[in-house]
Amino acid sequence: MNKGEVIDILSSNELKAQSRFGQNFLCDDDVIDEIISIADIKPVSSVLEIGPGLGALTEGVLDITSSYKAVEIDHGLFEYLNERFGDHFIHSDFLKLERQDYYNGEDVILSNIPYYIMTPIMKKLMVECDKAQKMVFMVEDEAVQRIIAAPGTKQYGPLSVLCSCFGIVKKEFSVPANCFYPMPHTLSSVISLTRNLDIVITEDFCDLIEASFSKRRKTLNNSLSDYLSSKKTNIELKEALRKLNLSENIRAEALKPDDFIELHKLLLL
Ligand code: SAM
Repeated sequence: MNKGEVIDILSSNELKAQSRFGQNFLCDDDVIDEIISIADIKPVSSVLEIGPGLGALTEGVLDITSSYKAVEIDHGLFEYLNERFGDHFIHSDFLKLERQDYYNGEDVILSNIPYYIMTPIMKKLMVECDKAQKMVFMVEDEAVQRIIAAPGTKQYGPLSVLCSCFGIVKKEFSVPANCFYPMPHTLSSVISLTRNLDIVITEDFCDLIEASFSKRRKTLNNSLSDYLSSKKTNIELKEALRKLNLSENIRAEALKPDDFIELHKLLLL
């Protein structure tokens, strides 16, 4: 799909790119092919896409497997997609969907993520799509540093921990603004997440990580005091830290993703 085709499809269907839905449509066939190739889709794969837009990735996916489903918030785009590709689409705000209404165990997840809701979308996918082996996302380049950040760095935070707990996180390549119509204001990047750990990311685990980073400059003991009071006491936290050979004055940014997994087991299971 090139820029001319995107403009033609929009105008012949009386559609407009809506900034409130973060609509920047991919219009570069090389980028589209590269994303499909990184996703490593096989004829037996089942694929879920969030925000298919004008179907830039849809065609490439359907060439490989018919097991494809996508969630699109925009009614005009949903109607266009349905007419062009058939019955693969759910018209909804993804963030409001219950798991059972969209997830059937798909193993590949794709999203050229609307940048304004990147974190909640990624978190929901990691918690709910428990059979997903591979996730390929287009994100704002600036967010990549936060996603791949290592413990002890300024950028390290809840999203870095969650992605790392999911598996291997890789920045694949950068995508300049002129590969989209309309052009976004920033550089974008394609990242991939490949599951390699046998851990289930639960809502409760996410809550623990978010609470841990809620007061970055304070000790974990302090950051978690409100969160823990309803479940476990700070004495139990100190005891858990001792078992993990971690200082009771440690801050969240010093804990490795594995430490969070172990801490979660000790505190909440
Ligand atoms: N995948 C297409 C592409 O690469 O050209 C479109 C990408 S565009 C950046 C983001 C898409 O996500 C748009 O189609 C937009 O309407 C859709 N979208 C935005 N918010 C959404 C939400 N909450 N749930 C589902 N789709 C959403």
